[in-house]
Amino acid sequence: MIYDYIIVGAGMGGLSAGLNLASHQKKTLILEKNALPGGLVSNIKKGRFEFDTSLYDLYDYGDDKSTGTLKELLTKYDIELETKVIPFNIRLNELSTKSNYIIRGDMDAFLTELERLQAGSMPSLKKFIQISQEIHEALDLLKKHKNIPEEKYPNFYKYLDFSTLNGLKDLGMPLDTINRFSFLWLEIGSPIHKLSFIDFSEFMYKLTFKKDVILLNKALDFTLKLANRYQELGGRIYYNSFVTEVTKTPSFYLIKTKDNLEYKAKQVIFNPSKRYVYKNLIMEDHKEINRLENARTLSPNGVVVYLGLNRSCEELGLKNYKYYQVKTLNSEINASTMTSLEHDTFTGIVPNVVNELASPKNTTILVLKKIFFDDALRSINSKNYAEFKEYIAQDLITKFEEAFKIDIQEYIEEIAVITPVSLSKYTNNVNGSFYGYMLKGYDNAINRLLTYPEEEIKDFTFVGGSSLFGAHVDNAFYSGYYLTEELLHKEGPNGK
Ligand SMILES: Cc1cc2nc3c(=O)[nH]c(=O)nc-3n(C[C@H](O)[C@H](O)[C@H](O)COP(=O)(O)OP(=O)(O)OC[C@H]3O[C@@H](n4cnc5c(N)ncnc54)[C@H](O)[C@@H]3O)c2cc1C
Repeated sequence: MIYDYIIVGAGMGGLSAGLNLASHQKKTLILEKNALPGGLVSNIKKGRFEFDTSLYDLYDYGDDKSTGTLKELLTKYDIELETKVIPFNIRLNELSTKSNYIIRGDMDAFLTELERLQAGSMPSLKKFIQISQEIHEALDLLKKHKNIPEEKYPNFYKYLDFSTLNGLKDLGMPLDTINRFSFLWLEIGSPIHKLSFIDFSEFMYKLTFKKDVILLNKALDFTLKLANRYQELGGRIYYNSFVTEVTKTPSFYLIKTKDNLEYKAKQVIFNPSKRYVYKNLIMEDHKEINRLENARTLSPNGVVVYLGLNRSCEELGLKNYKYYQVKTLNSEINASTMTSLEHDTFTGIVPNVVNELASPKNTTILVLKKIFFDDALRSINSKNYAEFKEYIAQDLITKFEEAFKIDIQEYIEEIAVITPVSLSKYTNNVNGSFYGYMLKGYDNAINRLLTYPEEEIKDFTFVGGSSLFGAHVDNAFYSGYYLTEELLHKEGPNGK
């Protein structure tokens, strides 16, 4: 049998592509190397704790008042999620100024706090929020191949080539306010002098107008819902199917797996990054594309330490959903410090603060994450790996205790650690990179959107966090939907 589409990988991008194709009655097969769907969105069971590896913030889902695009898409497939809105509840420790403050409420409360810290900031902040709405609408038109009239969307054109830093400066925002306003992006690891204004604006638009939510059930429940629905729609999924080679014959593509099985398809959709696919799966000669691909910057990799604590978050004094420690809020300077193992920047998340079902009664989950730029982990090898894992976990725990004066060490019941090594082994992400290609300079969502048709090899499509819109579950999901819509459109009403 020749499938219409074979999708390599059942991460968010692959599942989304599968759902759209199957709902259009296309013969679709997903081949996934692991035993579960979800890719980076997976889960680790340790004793009585179940740690979600990712997805502590589901962006662009929205609430009853304002439905997000992600919710609209999932509703199309009759997929419902139990969620709760995550309010801003952030405790921040900035080492250089020795300031430790809390941001609580919604975007309005955040802006009011920024104005309190630096009088005169409000007009530029309000202007930014207004512009982010305009930019969002323009992006929507671009995705639908519609004209973006310059008279109606002047700021979209004006800020197309601006970095976030220059754009916010252009709005007259004081530098300290810029740093305080944009530090949320640090978690993703694109310093704001490199990150495009448009990408930052879209992220903040979602946070302001659509709200991010936490899943009340485990992330695995979500990924299984996606996979099950895809199968109900007629799609097939084979787990434990590691694709090793994709070759072209005159009439179809031949896809081989590690266990020597072969499948045929008219078109192939890849969920892993192009860098992985060109190097490992496509046996034809694509040197030029590979060279261009290697010129792109991978997002940082990192270490995540999941702690199962045997006390409630109230007892432990963990009152905030998110904890950030930075050397300085200036993201350019801060990023330059994040190239060594020992650097001081990290985040902590306590899901129980928003979702009391996150772990068994009277226990708490704390997720500590530290990301690295460049090759901070170059000295790690198979001989010192175990030692490194222990060191980095302990280092993060100690840093957290010192920064926020909260004891956690003696309450640790379970611990799990993800490193770039384990992550790349699980998902094949190059270098264990967390967020695909960095949204940086001209490699931003708009340019990706405008240039992708020319750069693709015929009949190959790439979806997921490394693809069009950058990382995060919502973006990975949109790329799967958007790009399969394009494929279906190309096919026309009667198929190929
Ligand atoms: C620690 C961490 C925390 C995060 N937290 C959040 C968060 O709170 N909110 C949020 O929105 N995003 C978060 N993200 C980002 C988000 O998880 C990713 O952007 C998103 O899941 C990426 O999806 P993807 O489609 O690119 O697929 P991936 O998850 O990369 O999946 C690719 C799939 O392809 C499969 N595959 C690879 N090679 C082969 C092969 N040869 N054969 C068969 N199958 C193959 C893999 O097994 C995998 O299932 C986080 C990421 C990390 C690392």
